[in-house]
Amino acid sequence: MDEFYLPESAMAIVAHPDDIEYSCAGTLARWARGGSRISFVLCTSGDVGIDQQGMTRIEAAKIREAEELLAAEIIGAKEVIFLREPDGMLQPTLELRKKIVREIRRFRPEIVICGDPTIVWAGNDYINHPDHRAAAAAALDAVFPAAGQPNLFEELREEGFEAHKPRKVYVMSWGEGEVFVNIEDTMDIKISALRAHKSQMKEWDPEPSLREWAAESGKGKEMAYAEGYRVVTLVDDETWQNRNSRWSESTTHSQ
Ligand SMILES: [Zn+2]
Repeated sequence: MDEFYLPESAMAIVAHPDDIEYSCAGTLARWARGGSRISFVLCTSGDVGIDQQGMTRIEAAKIREAEELLAAEIIGAKEVIFLREPDGMLQPTLELRKKIVREIRRFRPEIVICGDPTIVWAGNDYINHPDHRAAAAAALDAVFPAAGQPNLFEELREEGFEAHKPRKVYVMSWGEGEVFVNIEDTMDIKISALRAHKSQMKEWDPEPSLREWAAESGKGKEMAYAEGYRVVTLVDDETWQNRNSRWSESTTHSQ
Protein backbone atom coordinates (compact mmCIF):
# COMPACT_ATOMS: atom_id res chain seq x y z
CA MET A 1 0.00 0.00 0.00
CA ASP A 2 1.17 3.48 -0.76
CA GLU A 3 1.36 5.40 2.48
CA PHE A 4 2.23 8.59 0.71
CA TYR A 5 2.65 11.39 3.07
CA LEU A 6 4.61 14.51 2.39
CA PRO A 7 6.75 15.73 5.28
CA GLU A 8 7.72 19.36 5.59
CA SER A 9 11.37 18.29 5.83
CA ALA A 10 13.61 15.23 5.88
CA MET A 11 17.23 14.55 6.74
CA ALA A 12 19.02 11.46 5.43
CA ILE A 13 22.02 10.34 7.49
CA VAL A 14 24.38 7.83 5.88
CA ALA A 15 28.02 6.70 5.83
CA HIS A 16 29.21 7.30 2.27
CA PRO A 17 28.61 9.25 -0.93
CA ASP A 18 26.29 6.98 -3.02
CA ASP A 19 24.53 5.32 -0.02
CA ILE A 20 21.47 7.54 -0.42
CA GLU A 21 21.37 7.00 -4.16
CA TYR A 22 21.40 3.21 -3.77
CA SER A 23 18.70 3.21 -1.13
CA CYS A 24 16.25 6.04 -0.42
CA ALA A 25 16.82 8.49 -3.32
CA GLY A 26 13.45 7.71 -4.93
CA THR A 27 11.59 8.65 -1.74
CA LEU A 28 13.65 11.80 -1.18
CA ALA A 29 13.21 12.91 -4.80
CA ARG A 30 9.46 12.41 -4.49
CA TRP A 31 9.33 14.44 -1.30
CA ALA A 32 11.56 17.16 -2.75
CA ARG A 33 9.25 17.47 -5.75
CA GLY A 34 6.34 17.87 -3.37
CA GLY A 35 8.09 20.77 -1.66
CA SER A 36 9.89 19.11 1.29
CA ARG A 37 13.19 20.59 2.48
CA ILE A 38 15.78 17.83 2.14
CA SER A 39 19.16 17.61 3.85
CA PHE A 40 21.88 14.97 3.43
CA VAL A 41 24.37 14.21 6.20
CA LEU A 42 27.36 12.15 5.06
CA CYS A 43 29.47 10.79 7.91
CA THR A 44 32.46 10.11 5.66
CA SER A 45 33.43 11.43 2.26
CA GLY A 46 34.27 7.98 0.92
CA ASP A 47 37.95 8.79 0.84
CA VAL A 48 39.20 5.19 0.53
CA GLY A 49 36.61 4.36 -2.10
CA ILE A 50 38.63 5.04 -5.24
CA ASP A 51 40.95 2.18 -6.04
CA GLN A 52 43.33 3.85 -8.42
CA GLN A 53 47.11 4.11 -8.52
CA GLY A 54 48.36 7.33 -6.96
CA MET A 55 44.95 8.40 -5.66
CA THR A 56 45.26 10.11 -2.28
CA ARG A 57 42.49 10.17 0.30
CA ILE A 58 42.26 13.94 0.04
CA GLU A 59 41.83 13.81 -3.72
CA ALA A 60 39.36 10.93 -3.50
CA ALA A 61 37.27 12.81 -0.93
CA LYS A 62 37.16 15.85 -3.21
CA ILE A 63 35.98 13.79 -6.17
CA ARG A 64 33.39 11.96 -4.14
CA GLU A 65 32.03 15.08 -2.45
CA ALA A 66 31.62 16.68 -5.88
CA GLU A 67 29.76 13.58 -7.09
CA GLU A 68 27.48 13.71 -4.04
CA LEU A 69 26.71 17.39 -4.61
CA LEU A 70 25.71 16.59 -8.17
CA ALA A 71 23.54 13.67 -7.02
CA ALA A 72 21.92 15.90 -4.39
CA GLU A 73 21.06 18.44 -7.04
CA ILE A 74 19.46 15.75 -9.20
CA ILE A 75 17.42 14.51 -6.24
CA GLY A 76 16.46 18.04 -5.19
CA ALA A 77 18.18 18.25 -1.81
CA LYS A 78 18.62 21.67 -0.32
CA GLU A 79 21.95 20.97 1.36
CA VAL A 80 24.67 18.36 1.88
CA ILE A 81 26.67 18.23 5.11
CA PHE A 82 30.00 16.37 5.12
CA LEU A 83 31.14 15.34 8.60
CA ARG A 84 34.44 14.02 7.15
CA GLU A 85 34.97 11.11 9.51
CA PRO A 86 37.52 8.56 8.24
CA ASP A 87 36.08 6.25 5.58
CA GLY A 88 36.35 2.55 6.39
CA MET A 89 36.93 3.25 10.08
CA LEU A 90 33.64 4.84 11.14
CA GLN A 91 32.66 4.24 14.76
CA PRO A 92 29.38 5.16 16.48
CA THR A 93 31.15 7.27 19.10
CA LEU A 94 29.63 9.89 21.39
CA GLU A 95 31.53 12.47 19.40
CA LEU A 96 29.83 11.38 16.16
CA ARG A 97 26.48 11.26 17.97
CA LYS A 98 26.97 14.87 19.03
CA LYS A 99 27.87 15.97 15.52
CA ILE A 100 24.67 14.40 14.21
CA VAL A 101 22.61 15.89 17.06
CA ARG A 102 23.97 19.31 16.07
CA GLU A 103 22.73 18.81 12.48
CA ILE A 104 19.32 17.57 13.64
CA ARG A 105 18.87 20.53 16.01
CA ARG A 106 19.96 22.95 13.31
CA PHE A 107 17.86 21.63 10.40
CA ARG A 108 14.94 20.43 12.57
CA PRO A 109 13.72 17.70 10.21
CA GLU A 110 10.25 16.20 10.47
CA ILE A 111 11.66 12.88 9.24
CA VAL A 112 15.08 11.31 9.66
CA ILE A 113 16.03 8.54 7.22
CA CYS A 114 18.88 6.25 8.19
CA GLY A 115 20.13 2.69 7.89
CA ASP A 116 19.44 -0.35 10.04
CA PRO A 117 22.42 -1.16 12.29
CA THR A 118 21.24 -4.76 12.69
CA ILE A 119 21.61 -5.64 9.02
CA VAL A 120 24.80 -7.67 8.66
CA TRP A 121 23.97 -9.95 5.74
CA ALA A 122 22.23 -9.58 2.42
CA GLY A 123 21.85 -12.94 0.73
CA ASN A 124 24.92 -15.15 0.58
CA ASP A 125 27.23 -12.78 -1.20
CA TYR A 126 27.30 -9.57 0.80
CA ILE A 127 28.35 -8.43 4.25
CA ASN A 128 26.95 -5.04 5.14
CA HIS A 129 29.79 -2.52 5.35
CA PRO A 130 30.76 -1.77 8.97
CA ASP A 131 30.55 1.97 8.19
CA HIS A 132 26.88 1.51 7.21
CA ARG A 133 26.18 -0.16 10.54
CA ALA A 134 28.13 2.49 12.46
CA ALA A 135 26.38 5.39 10.69
CA ALA A 136 23.00 3.75 11.30
CA ALA A 137 23.71 3.25 15.02
CA ALA A 138 25.05 6.78 15.44
CA ALA A 139 22.03 8.24 13.61
CA LEU A 140 19.46 6.32 15.67
CA ASP A 141 21.24 7.15 18.92
CA ALA A 142 21.34 10.82 17.92
CA VAL A 143 17.65 10.87 17.00
CA PHE A 144 16.55 9.28 20.25
CA PRO A 145 16.84 10.40 22.89
CA ALA A 146 19.74 12.84 22.42
CA ALA A 147 18.44 15.34 19.84
CA GLY A 148 15.22 15.97 21.75
CA GLN A 149 16.71 16.17 25.22
CA PRO A 150 17.54 19.77 26.18
CA ASN A 151 19.90 18.75 28.98
CA LEU A 152 21.96 16.45 26.78
CA PHE A 153 24.65 18.18 24.71
CA GLU A 154 23.20 21.38 26.18
CA GLU A 155 26.35 23.22 25.08
CA LEU A 156 24.88 23.20 21.56
CA ARG A 157 22.47 25.85 22.80
CA GLU A 158 25.37 28.28 22.78
CA GLU A 159 25.53 27.70 19.02
CA GLY A 160 21.83 28.59 18.85
CA PHE A 161 20.52 25.02 18.50
CA GLU A 162 17.61 24.02 20.72
CA ALA A 163 16.48 20.43 21.31
CA HIS A 164 14.42 18.90 18.53
CA LYS A 165 12.66 15.57 18.43
CA PRO A 166 11.90 14.44 14.85
CA ARG A 167 8.37 13.22 14.20
CA LYS A 168 9.33 9.91 12.58
CA VAL A 169 12.36 7.83 11.68
CA TYR A 170 12.38 5.93 8.40
CA VAL A 171 14.82 3.04 8.74
CA MET A 172 15.90 1.65 5.38
CA SER A 173 14.97 -1.98 5.36
CA TRP A 174 16.41 -3.39 2.15
CA GLY A 175 13.18 -4.60 0.61
CA GLU A 176 11.55 -5.56 3.91
CA GLY A 177 9.61 -3.20 6.15
CA GLU A 178 6.03 -2.11 6.69
CA VAL A 179 5.93 1.16 4.84
CA PHE A 180 6.57 1.25 1.12
CA VAL A 181 6.94 4.49 -0.77
CA ASN A 182 5.91 4.36 -4.41
CA ILE A 183 8.84 5.63 -6.50
CA GLU A 184 7.45 4.99 -9.99
CA ASP A 185 7.65 8.69 -10.81
CA THR A 186 11.15 9.18 -9.43
CA MET A 187 12.81 5.91 -10.49
CA ASP A 188 14.59 7.64 -13.37
CA ILE A 189 15.87 10.35 -11.02
CA LYS A 190 17.23 7.71 -8.66
CA ILE A 191 19.13 6.09 -11.54
CA SER A 192 20.55 9.44 -12.75
CA ALA A 193 21.58 10.34 -9.20
CA LEU A 194 23.48 7.08 -8.74
CA ARG A 195 25.12 7.56 -12.14
CA ALA A 196 26.50 10.86 -10.83
CA HIS A 197 28.90 8.73 -8.76
CA LYS A 198 31.10 8.12 -11.77
CA SER A 199 34.14 7.07 -9.72
CA GLN A 200 32.09 4.19 -8.30
CA MET A 201 30.13 3.16 -11.39
CA LYS A 202 33.07 3.02 -13.81
CA GLU A 203 31.83 0.77 -16.64
CA TRP A 204 28.95 -0.65 -14.62
CA ASP A 205 25.43 0.40 -15.56
CA PRO A 206 23.39 0.56 -12.34
CA GLU A 207 20.03 0.78 -14.09
CA PRO A 208 19.07 -2.93 -14.33
CA SER A 209 19.96 -3.64 -10.68
CA LEU A 210 18.23 -0.55 -9.31
CA ARG A 211 15.08 -1.36 -11.29
CA GLU A 212 15.17 -4.99 -10.18
CA TRP A 213 15.53 -4.14 -6.46
CA ALA A 214 12.82 -1.47 -6.56
CA ALA A 215 10.49 -3.78 -8.51
CA GLU A 216 11.07 -6.49 -5.90
CA SER A 217 10.12 -4.02 -3.13
CA GLY A 218 6.96 -3.03 -5.01
CA LYS A 219 5.86 -6.61 -5.66
CA GLY A 220 2.34 -7.42 -4.45
CA LYS A 221 1.70 -3.79 -3.55
CA GLU A 222 0.53 -2.51 -6.92
CA MET A 223 3.68 -0.47 -7.29
CA ALA A 224 6.04 -0.87 -10.21
CA TYR A 225 8.87 0.48 -8.06
CA ALA A 226 9.09 1.05 -4.33
CA GLU A 227 11.42 1.66 -1.41
CA GLY A 228 10.67 -0.07 1.91
CA TYR A 229 11.10 1.20 5.47
CA ARG A 230 10.50 0.35 9.07
CA VAL A 231 8.89 3.52 10.42
CA VAL A 232 9.19 4.57 14.04
CA THR A 233 6.85 7.36 15.17
CA LEU A 234 8.40 9.42 17.97
CA VAL A 235 5.86 12.24 18.12
CA ASP A 236 2.17 11.38 17.63
CA ASP A 237 0.13 13.26 15.05
CA GLU A 238 -1.83 15.39 17.50
CA THR A 239 1.23 16.51 19.45
CA TRP A 240 3.06 17.28 16.22
CA GLN A 241 0.17 19.35 14.82
CA ASN A 242 -0.17 21.30 18.08
CA ARG A 243 3.53 21.92 18.24
CA ASN A 244 3.58 23.20 14.68
CA SER A 245 0.50 25.36 14.96
CA ARG A 246 1.91 26.90 18.15
CA TRP A 247 5.14 27.50 16.30
CA SER A 248 3.45 29.15 13.31
CA GLU A 249 1.28 31.30 15.62
CA SER A 250 4.31 32.56 17.50
CA THR A 251 6.18 33.30 14.29
CA THR A 252 3.16 35.14 12.91
CA HIS A 253 2.96 37.30 16.03
CA SER A 254 6.60 38.18 15.93
CA GLN A 255 6.45 39.41 12.34
ZN1 LIG B 1 28.34 2.77 1.46
